[in-house]
Amino acid sequence: MPPHADRPGDLQSVEVFSSLGDENRLAIVGALHEHDDATPMSFSTLYDHVDVDDTGRFNYHLSQLVPHFVAKREEGYGLTGAGRRLARAVAAGTFTDVPRLEPFAIDGRCYACGDDALEASYDDEAFAIRCRHCDELVLDVHVPPTVVRGRSPSEVVDAFERWSKLQVDQARHGICPDCGGAVESAVATDVASEIEFDAAPTFTCSVCGRRAVTSVGALAARHPAVREFHDERGESLDDRRYWEIDQYVAGQHVEVRSRDPWLFCVSFYAAGDACHVEIDGTLEVVRVEIAGGEGPSDV
Ligand SMILES: [Zn+2]
Ligand SMILES: [Zn+2]
Repeated sequence: MPPHADRPGDLQSVEVFSSLGDENRLAIVGALHEHDDATPMSFSTLYDHVDVDDTGRFNYHLSQLVPHFVAKREEGYGLTGAGRRLARAVAAGTFTDVPRLEPFAIDGRCYACGDDALEASYDDEAFAIRCRHCDELVLDVHVPPTVVRGRSPSEVVDAFERWSKLQVDQARHGICPDCGGAVESAVATDVASEIEFDAAPTFTCSVCGRRAVTSVGALAARHPAVREFHDERGESLDDRRYWEIDQYVAGQHVEVRSRDPWLFCVSFYAAGDACHVEIDGTLEVVRVEIAGGEGPSDV
């Protein structure tokens, strides 16, 4: 049976994106998106809403969007599911208009030197936190402009923290935070440029390829026994930003016990007691051990 070249699903991704390489086409998608979804738009109404100089050119651009992004029905034109997703992405500014935030002071202590001299910035789609005192780069994470746009600097810090936690929570439950596709977890050793560790948990989407990277410390801290350990000693992990928690962002209390198979041990300290958490290569917590009188509080 020959392939059905006219079916949207048969279009190669490269062709799909080249069909968008024109502002007139994005304008057509935008006009359809603003229009009431339930009633299709006639050719002439749609033409009136898009600033193209002649009908022939307009018709050509429109034809390039059918059938993948625009559905042509008897009564007129409407967006397909892919068209709606595209329109939302354009509206969210994913493709244009990248905001920027000059460094500004934020609350909290530097895990490296203990000074309260942290500052945050957003540039080139990366959110960074640096210590003005010891110059440590505490974190540097790719963050979409939508998390930043329309928020004040302090709101950006709150939004970033929640966004990061939700990304990891979603990925570790097997759902890609970008597209909802199935996610595979692994320990990766090519993440040094992204975070402080030479091996880190990653969640890779089998559909869109998006890879979420976290730290074994961040996974260990999600375990109920670890939260309880801190809560019972009056040093709740929720009282601090995650970048203030050494185990999340640096390697001092994170030990690689075995590389084949993977076994990590993350140690937390509170009120003079220690909590050792072992995580294996499947990123599951396999053991939690509380030891009394084993060192200083990490607060
Ligand atoms: Zn510092
Ligand atoms: Zn995905």
